[in-house]
Amino acid sequence: MKILVINAGSSSLKYQLIDMQNENVLAKGIVDRIAIENSFITIETEKSKYKLEFDCPNHTVAIQQVLNLLTDKQHGCIDTMQEVGAVGHRVVHGGNDFNTSVKIDKNVIKLIEANAELAPLHNPPNVAGIEACNKAIPHAPAVAVFDTSFHSTMPEQAYLYGLPYDVYTDYKIRKYGFHGTSHQFVSSEARRIWGDENLKLIVCHLGNGASLSAVLNDKCIDTSMGFTPLAGLVMGTRSGDIDSAILEYLSKKTGMSLTQCIEYLNKKSGVLGISGVSSDFRNLGEAANNGNKRAKIALDVFSYRVKHYIGAYTAILNGLDMIAFTAGIGENAVFVREMICKNLEYLGLELDTFKNSNCPRGQIAEINKSSSKVKIFVIPTNEELVIARETLKHCK
Ligand code: AMP
Repeated sequence: MKILVINAGSSSLKYQLIDMQNENVLAKGIVDRIAIENSFITIETEKSKYKLEFDCPNHTVAIQQVLNLLTDKQHGCIDTMQEVGAVGHRVVHGGNDFNTSVKIDKNVIKLIEANAELAPLHNPPNVAGIEACNKAIPHAPAVAVFDTSFHSTMPEQAYLYGLPYDVYTDYKIRKYGFHGTSHQFVSSEARRIWGDENLKLIVCHLGNGASLSAVLNDKCIDTSMGFTPLAGLVMGTRSGDIDSAILEYLSKKTGMSLTQCIEYLNKKSGVLGISGVSSDFRNLGEAANNGNKRAKIALDVFSYRVKHYIGAYTAILNGLDMIAFTAGIGENAVFVREMICKNLEYLGLELDTFKNSNCPRGQIAEINKSSSKVKIFVIPTNEELVIARETLKHCK
C-alpha cells in the first residue's frame, strides 16, 4: 500500500508518499506560503526535483496541487490518485482525548477542533489538511497521528503542575509533551538495538524545537515540553522554562501585552535572543569559534539545560542505560553533543570523541567509549515513517 503523509501547518504543508511494502519514500515535498503571495510547491522523486510557483489561497488548493504533481507524467511517481491507499495526518494536540493514533471520522474531527484551544496555531491547519484530503481523495481512509500521544503514558506526578487541581480538571492545564512521533521512532530504534532487556533511555530530540524524554521500557514517563511547546529546554528561538513571574515584570517594563510577551518568548528568545547572532547552531558554532562571547554563552546555556534534564531524568529512571541524540542538532552538531556529554562520567557516560566526530550522516552510530556504562547513540529520526506505520495499522 502507498500511504500519503501530510503535515499541514498554517502557511505550509509538507508531504511524503511512502510505499509501505519496503518503506521507500516515493516522493516528498512542501507547499509553502499558503494564503501568502509567491506560493510554491516542490516535489522530489527518485528521478527528478521540481519546483512550481502557483496561486495557493488555501489548504484545499494545496492538497489538489500535491495530488496533481504526484500523478504528473514528468515529475510524479503514480499514475492515478487511486494508488494512494490511505492518508496519515500529523496532528499536534490530542489533549486528553487521544492516547494513540485514530482513524478519522466526523467525531474525531470535532475532538481535534475542540482541542484547538490548547494548540490554536497548529490544530486548525491540521484539520484544514484533513478536510482537504477527505474532499480530494474520499476513497482513502485517513488516520490522525498525534504529537502528544507518545507522552500519554506519563504518570500524574509527572504531568501535574503545582497548581490547584481544579485547573487540571476544569481547564485541562497539565503537561502534555510534544515531538511524540520523533520520541516514539527513536525509542523503537533504541529498543531494536538494545534487545529484550529492561531499558532506561533518555531521548534528546534537539532541533530548532527541542525536547528530552525519559523512556522506561518503551513508555514515556516524563518529557521536558509542557502544556505548550514553549517549556523545557532553551531552544532556537524559544525560552524554555522560565520563572512565570517574569511575564508580568517584563510586561510592566516593556509595555508589551501578555500576548506579545508570549510571542517574544516563542520567537525572539532562546539561543537567538541570548546570542543576538542566530538560532542556527552552525552559525553559533562559527561565531563562538571566532570569539563571539554571546554565541559561546548561548551554546553554554543550551547544553547546560540539556545536562540539567539528563541529570533529572537519570534520577527519575533510577539509572540510565542509553542516551539517544536525534533531530537537526542532535544528529549533526558534533560539538554540541560533546558539550552535553562532558563531565557526565559520574553518571556512567563516556563519549568517544573520535567516534563522535566521525559518525556517518543519516545513519545510526554508537559514539560511547567501550568502557562507558551508558550507551550513547546518534539515531536519525523519521517522524513521517512513524505516521505512515501508524496509518497502516488502521488499514489492516
Ligand atoms: P530541525 O528542527 O530538526 O530541522 O533542526 C534544525 C536545526 O539543526 C538548525 O536550525 C541547526 O541549528 C541545526 N543543524 C542542522 N545541521 C547542522 C550541522 N551540520 N551542524 C550544526 N547544527 C546543525
